[in-house]
Amino acid sequence: MLTARQVLETDVAVGERVVVVDTQGLMQGCDVANYLSKQGKDVEIVTGMPYVGENIQAGVWRHLYEELLRQGVTMSPLTGVSAIGESTVSTFSAVYTEARRVIEGVDTVVFASGGEADDQLFRALQGSVADLHAIGDCVQPRTVEAAVYEGHKLGRLL
Ligand SMILES: Cc1cc2nc3c(=O)[nH]c(=O)nc-3n(C[C@H](O)[C@H](O)[C@H](O)COP(=O)(O)OP(=O)(O)OC[C@H]3O[C@@H](n4cnc5c(N)ncnc54)[C@H](O)[C@@H]3O)c2cc1C
Repeated sequence: MLTARQVLETDVAVGERVVVVDTQGLMQGCDVANYLSKQGKDVEIVTGMPYVGENIQAGVWRHLYEELLRQGVTMSPLTGVSAIGESTVSTFSAVYTEARRVIEGVDTVVFASGGEADDQLFRALQGSVADLHAIGDCVQPRTVEAAVYEGHKLGRLL
């Protein structure tokens, strides 16, 4: 089990059959699926949302979908994950939870779920910088919009 950031930022080994678990509907899930399918890997995106990339802007979404579908990425919306086994991902329908499916032969599960905030710098500076503020992903991994909004808001306050 890996995070999307581990896959995108490091040389970590990823198997051939990959399930991407996307809980955000942002670019991260689609980006990591795109990156891995371009390497020839068999990729399925699983999300509990009504459709994959639900929170991506329509103009971007359209082109991204075209690319993902051309590369054979399987998209499984309205799908929750109940368990992850040695080589399986157990899923259920987000609408009718009795409808279950086990994805077999899975080598790697990649989570596009936001992850933990990296606030090491903020913590290190606490006590030594009088007027210190945390904004953006350092508070909680979200979007560029949230980071810019918080920066703008703070800038006006200072
Ligand atoms: C694959 C992927 C795709 C994404 N796609 C989208 C998208 O399409 N739309 C969208 O809105 N959001 C997207 N996001 C989320 C978006 O990138 C972040 O929400 C946004 O970049 C947060 O901005 P930030 O300035 O808070 O943090 P960052 O952009 O992470 O900037 C923090 C900076 O601080 C630096 N830094 C950290 N620690 C230190 C230190 N100790 N000393 C000096 N520098 C340090 C880092 O190197 C980094 O450059 C995506 C994220 C990922 C991972």
